[in-house]
Amino acid sequence: METNGILGNSTSIEILNRIERGKVHHAVLDFDGTISLIRDGWQNVMVPMMIDILMETPTSESLQQLESTVVKFVDQLTGKQTIYQMMQLCEEVQKRGGISKEPLDYKDMYNVRLLPIVNDRIAKLENQDIQSNDLRVPMSLEFLQKLTAYNIKCYLASGTDIEFVKHEAELLGVAEYFDGGIFGALREFEKFSKEMVIQKILSDFDLNGSELLIVGDGYVEIQNAKSVNAIAVGVVTKENNVYDMNADKRQRLIHAGADIIIPDFCEADQLLSYLLDV
Ligand SMILES: [Mg+2]
Repeated sequence: METNGILGNSTSIEILNRIERGKVHHAVLDFDGTISLIRDGWQNVMVPMMIDILMETPTSESLQQLESTVVKFVDQLTGKQTIYQMMQLCEEVQKRGGISKEPLDYKDMYNVRLLPIVNDRIAKLENQDIQSNDLRVPMSLEFLQKLTAYNIKCYLASGTDIEFVKHEAELLGVAEYFDGGIFGALREFEKFSKEMVIQKILSDFDLNGSELLIVGDGYVEIQNAKSVNAIAVGVVTKENNVYDMNADKRQRLIHAGADIIIPDFCEADQLLSYLLDV
């Protein structure tokens, strides 16, 4: 089986495009939704906050109308730094005749609302009320261990603030596998994007696309991967949000150009033997 179909006879790994196998030496992974479930359900915090803010404008739209607008743009901007969702919120406020705050103020407001949920999970983790395994995407740690064993340099790139990403990666026991570095959102947001991380790896190591693997559950990183001809693995993890935002996740990752689709990392061995041709 070379292209377009299920890998092997009985795996859940879907092959969408023919790739050059056996070349990968570097891998960039997304964090939330790809490895970590610590922030799972964040949409349930961001969307109501934005609706509240838009309700304060002189708009005559109903709650349902505002909700559908918000859900749409939040979803489309997922994978980029959170600030971009807040920039769009400012635009939506202004469009409706309201006076918006600065995007950073909205982002701080969002972090304040999300923090209790995240901190509660972290506290449970630290008290061992839950195991780190429960807050990781299935077999993601083992996948990282296998990548490392194959001498593939790993990088973590997330749209979540860098200080949170570093802390949460430590808590989940995955930080040590990112020998290429951990990258995340900065207050000076122009200084970071997943695309910039990818470009730097390509130029630092003088790579061509097939030597770089990008793994993520958002179409931003999949698009970034395809724009440099890297190998893109889309992870169709299930997200816990009340807005049904991941209803067509698989379809959208395919649309963004994913070469391979997996539900999680339970079949890491089969995936790696295909990718690495071993
Ligand atoms: Mg993600």
